[in-house]
Amino acid sequence: MRETLDIVLPLEQSENENAIRKALAERLKLPDSRVINWHLLKHSLDARQRQIKVQLRLDVGIDEPLAPPQQPTPDYPQVDSDMPRAVIVGCGPGGMFAALRCLELGIKPIVLERGKDASARRFDLAPILRKGTVIEDSNYCFGEGGAGTFSDGKLYTRATKRGPVRDIYEALVAHGAPERILVDAHPHIGSNLLPNVVMAIRKSIIASGGEVHFQSRVTALIRSGKEVIGVKCADGKVVLADGVILATGHSARDIYRMLLSAGVTLEQKPFAVGVRIEHSQERIDSIQYHLAPGHKRHNLLPAASYRVATKIDDRGVHSFCMCPGGFIVPAATENDEVVVNGMSLSRRDSKFANSGLVVTVEPEDTAACNAQFGVLAGVMWQKKTGATGKGSRRWRANRTSTDCHRLY
Ligand SMILES: Cc1cc2nc3c(=O)[nH]c(=O)nc-3n(C[C@H](O)[C@H](O)[C@H](O)COP(=O)(O)OP(=O)(O)OC[C@H]3O[C@@H](n4cnc5c(N)ncnc54)[C@H](O)[C@@H]3O)c2cc1C
Repeated sequence: MRETLDIVLPLEQSENENAIRKALAERLKLPDSRVINWHLLKHSLDARQRQIKVQLRLDVGIDEPLAPPQQPTPDYPQVDSDMPRAVIVGCGPGGMFAALRCLELGIKPIVLERGKDASARRFDLAPILRKGTVIEDSNYCFGEGGAGTFSDGKLYTRATKRGPVRDIYEALVAHGAPERILVDAHPHIGSNLLPNVVMAIRKSIIASGGEVHFQSRVTALIRSGKEVIGVKCADGKVVLADGVILATGHSARDIYRMLLSAGVTLEQKPFAVGVRIEHSQERIDSIQYHLAPGHKRHNLLPAASYRVATKIDDRGVHSFCMCPGGFIVPAATENDEVVVNGMSLSRRDSKFANSGLVVTVEPEDTAACNAQFGVLAGVMWQKKTGATGKGSRRWRANRTSTDCHRLY
């Protein structure tokens, strides 16, 4: 017999087999011996009180063992050259998952990416980190996997609009992400593991008959009447298709300009800007886990995170992309701007935590740029806000109070 049960255990007992069996048997009102095995479905921490608890959802085998759970594997149908073709511009998470979906629908995906493959791209991060020089088509945002390759890999969101989240996690596991993301309430992959996941996804696309082309920056749409029938790249290459998917992300400002000049209707939307705050991880642990002075967090606890959200003068202000045990990285895509973001390795063992603290910018806030830039006023305002002037890409860091280490 099989049953799905929720149990709550004190942190210290949460990985102890006997304690789990006993709690399950108590819930089932059965002797311990009838609880044969179990599989973890969900793991979440409740650290609101000093006594930290772990909530577990388990599939339980009663009287007979459960069969091992099926591991997700990359399994996509083969597409041939006579099938419909889709050009996908951009090989970030959006582009990669669009390509996988095309395979499922019997459409041949042809992915065009302005940057390099993830291995070559790693070398292009050194100039940004050492000299502050951005290679404009290959950096923390552009290249195989897009901003997703070094994106920390926090796989959770405050957004209430949900797609098939479980399918996404399974696709990531099938391509080498840790299985633990299938059960954690706050799953995280880590910037050290993401490049291999991204490269494995590319291999799946190609193995099923799709194509992925690097150093192929799309500069124009090709149209036949009102229909888009392909794209043109900076090197003159033309790729024709039955459909074009733009998955160029938020950093490709040139794409907005290209669309506007092609007569595509664009609409302004709100966005958020702010600073990144760096704290000592120990300080965040001690607050979130109610630690006595000088005490370190329990080894079963992850580096602690936080969320804040408030309104100031009727304006939403909130923390964004909080990275426990992480690093602040330069995420600019052009040489005359400063943009920072946060990432962490899968172990999340840096001594620092960091988080964005951002405020919403509505279209009316950037109205001063309207006359000059029209619908791209917000994009140009963003550009001006991060601008430093050519050749002076310096990180601006301010030490703040003792609670908050530095502001970038
Ligand atoms: C350091 C860092 C940490 C982050 N941490 C997280 C996190 O923990 N969790 C989270 O959910 N999000 C995180 N993000 C954000 C996340 O990475 C992005 O939201 C996500 O990558 C967006 O996916 P996308 O495919 O829409 O666009 P992108 O990832 O931006 O991909 C777009 C791709 O299109 C390519 N492209 C652009 N223009 C062209 C063109 N003209 N021709 C051809 N190719 C083009 C780019 O090179 C790029 O590869 C982080 C981002 C950064 C930089």
